[in-house]
Amino acid sequence: MDAEIAVVGAGVVGAAVALELARRGASVALLEAEPAPALQASGTNSGILHTGFDSPPGELETELILRAAELRDPVLDALGVPVLRCGALMRPLQDGDEAAIERLAENARRNGVEAELGDDGSLAVPGEAATDPVAFALALVAAAERHGAELRTGFPVVAIERGARGITLSAPDGTSVRARVVLNCAGVGAGWLARLAGDESFEVYPRKGEFLVFEPPAGEPLRRILLPVPSESTKGVLVFPTVDSKVVAGPTAVDQDDPDDWAVRPEATAEIVPKAAAMYPPLAGREPMFSYAGLRPAGRGVNYLIGPSAACPGLVNVAAIRSTGLTSSLAIGERVAAVVAESAVELRERAPLEPVSPALGAGPWWRRTADYRARGAAGEHRGAISDGAVGPERAATAHGGVAIPEDPRP
Ligand SMILES: Cc1cc2nc3c(=O)[nH]c(=O)nc-3n(C[C@H](O)[C@H](O)[C@H](O)COP(=O)(O)OP(=O)(O)OC[C@H]3O[C@@H](n4cnc5c(N)ncnc54)[C@H](O)[C@@H]3O)c2cc1C
Repeated sequence: MDAEIAVVGAGVVGAAVALELARRGASVALLEAEPAPALQASGTNSGILHTGFDSPPGELETELILRAAELRDPVLDALGVPVLRCGALMRPLQDGDEAAIERLAENARRNGVEAELGDDGSLAVPGEAATDPVAFALALVAAAERHGAELRTGFPVVAIERGARGITLSAPDGTSVRARVVLNCAGVGAGWLARLAGDESFEVYPRKGEFLVFEPPAGEPLRRILLPVPSESTKGVLVFPTVDSKVVAGPTAVDQDDPDDWAVRPEATAEIVPKAAAMYPPLAGREPMFSYAGLRPAGRGVNYLIGPSAACPGLVNVAAIRSTGLTSSLAIGERVAAVVAESAVELRERAPLEPVSPALGAGPWWRRTADYRARGAAGEHRGAISDGAVGPERAATAHGGVAIPEDPRP
């Protein structure tokens, strides 16, 4: 198979990039190791569409969060993606919080995001919203296909070869795809993928976030997303309502090496519940009905790495999109298209979005990946990818390209 552009990774970033390029007339192959899209970070996050009120002005991440807010609503409306436009509230809970919240209010003003400082020192951010991140990503994939992109699942790229007629990407079963431009949207696997192409300029590691899912407590419905005052390193544990009326608390932030460790640690409940209950007392002492974990694709010393590889002409890295990629995905797509337009691929104006009805089942998004991993763990042996030290066979197993007992699509 030949394509002008191969996108490696069908998480929300690869999906948005594939959609943008397909709408702009490019022939696109979207290659995914897992048997379905959005089975990694994109299916296991908080599902919050951030406004960027707390993002540092001037950074690329902030720029793309703010730009995505301009692009997103018409796309989500056209694709029928559910959004809970509930807003968020940050209350001061301990010494120092009021001053920190005042600084965030000023930050919001600088970013042009609506935020109201209350008399009690709390900050209301009406534009924050919650979505179903799986529906979001699957809708983008379906729309990309509707615009001509070809999705190939169960295609773990394990070899990259540059030749006179383009870059060839091969899977362990010997099948290959050749493209003029390759977009590395491989999430936690992006550092390893770049190294396959001789690019050793960055590393991505998994930063685990664990969540607890609760039935909504009777009597005191959760009407808004409740946010803690963020620290330097994390946005902290939040409490949010889901589009299917559950209450979720999390995530934690645990740096790890193993990209195949999706387990919720036994101590996660004791870490999450007190923080969540401080913001939302009805959660005190309650048992979660479910738990899940996601792995953020965290760059070592780098965030939102978007640009051509210096080591491999034709390769564009779209990597280390650690903690806001769901929110910013449509703007990432636009940004990547600008990079691609400077290469040999000509792009047209963006075509109007074609409506789609992605095949979504009845299962809730928050358990889709956890159930899939549980089924995989029961029936096969997922090896770990130690970044930079895997051979093709190991990678195929580790990325879920083989031995999956059944189709995980709910
Ligand atoms: C705990 C947690 C909470 C978060 N909360 C939010 C939030 O509330 N709002 C928000 O906007 N963002 C949030 N995020 C961040 C968001 O989930 C990520 O930024 C986003 O999902 C990254 O998307 P991605 O497509 O780059 O990665 P992924 O979704 O991980 O997709 C990468 C894909 O590449 C595939 N792949 C890897 N290697 C290969 C290969 N060699 N060949 C083929 N395919 C390959 C993988 O199988 C995977 O499907 C959160 C993330 C986590 C983990």
